Amino acid sequence: MDWTAGWKNNKRYYDLKSYWRNLFGCTVHKLQIDAGFTCPNRDGHVATGGCIYCDGCGSKLRQQGPLPSVTDQILYGKKYYSPSASKFVAYFQTFTNTYAPVETLKALYDEALAREDVIGLSIGTRPDCLPPEVIDLLAGYVQKYHVWVELGLQSVHDRTLKTINRGHTYQQFLEAVNNLSGRGLNICVHIIMGLPGESDKDVLVTAKTLAALPVNGIKIHSLLALDGTLMGQMYREGSIQMITKEQYVSLTADVLELLPPDIVIQRLTADGYRDIFLAPVWAANKLDVLNAINKELERRDSYQGMRYK
Ligand code: SF4
Repeated sequence: MDWTAGWKNNKRYYDLKSYWRNLFGCTVHKLQIDAGFTCPNRDGHVATGGCIYCDGCGSKLRQQGPLPSVTDQILYGKKYYSPSASKFVAYFQTFTNTYAPVETLKALYDEALAREDVIGLSIGTRPDCLPPEVIDLLAGYVQKYHVWVELGLQSVHDRTLKTINRGHTYQQFLEAVNNLSGRGLNICVHIIMGLPGESDKDVLVTAKTLAALPVNGIKIHSLLALDGTLMGQMYREGSIQMITKEQYVSLTADVLELLPPDIVIQRLTADGYRDIFLAPVWAANKLDVLNAINKELERRDSYQGMRYK
C-alpha cells in the first residue's frame, strides 16, 4: 500500500504544512506567542539552571521590553503572514506554557482563540507540568478547536535526561502521554540528536519507542551550543563534540524510516538566535539541511515509515 499518496506533497515525509492543508483545505500557519510564562526547571520548583542547552532568555519579544498582550501578538503575526494564510494556530511557545493556575491558562488560551481565523492551539510544555485540571482544560477545547500539546522530551534514556538536566524522567513523560491520549488532543514530542553521551543506537531506540506510543507529531533537531548556556561553555572548552551535518542527515533519515507514516513531522531543523549561536555552524542553514535530508532519502529510495513495524 502506498500510504505516501495520502500526504499529497512532494516530500519523503509527512510535513506539518501538508497535514494541515489536507485537514483544513487551506494554508495554516503557527503564530508564535510568548505569554510570559517561566519554567519550573529554572525557577527552583524542579531545578535551577534549566536544561544545559537552554539560554533562559525567552523570546526576542521578551528581551525587547514588556510583552504585548496575546491579542496584539496574534494581530501582529497575522499581518506578517497575510494574505497567504487563511487560518492560524496560536503557538504558546516560550518556556512552559502550562505552568500557571488553570484560571490563568484558560484566560490566555481563550484570548487567543477569540481572534478571527485562529482555529486552534499548540501548547509547548514539559511532561511534569500537566496536572489533571490542565489536561481537562485542554481537552475541553477539542470539540471546537484543533489542539496540539508539544512535550519536550529529547531522549527516552534517563541517563541522558539527567546529563542534560531535564528535571524529569522518561516515566513521567510516559504518564503524561497516557493522560493526554484518548482526549482528542494531538501529542507532539520534541527530540534532540547529538546529545552528550548518546550514540546513534540510543537515538534509534528513542525513535522506535516513540513509534509505539500514541504520538501524532514529532519535532527533531540537532543539539545547538548557544552562548550563555552550559552547552556553550562545554563547546568552548572542547569537552563536547557537536554532531556533524552528515551524521545528522543520515540519522534523521534513519529515524524517519522508523516512525509511522501518519506521524506529522513538525520540524527537522533547529532554531537558535544568531547573536548567541556558537555551533554547529551547518545547522544555521536550515534550507540546506532540509534539502540534504530529502536527498539522503532519495538516495536510499526511502521515505518515512519505510522500516516502521
Ligand atoms: S524545559 Fe524548556 S524552558 Fe525549561 S529549562 Fe528546559 S529547555 Fe528551558
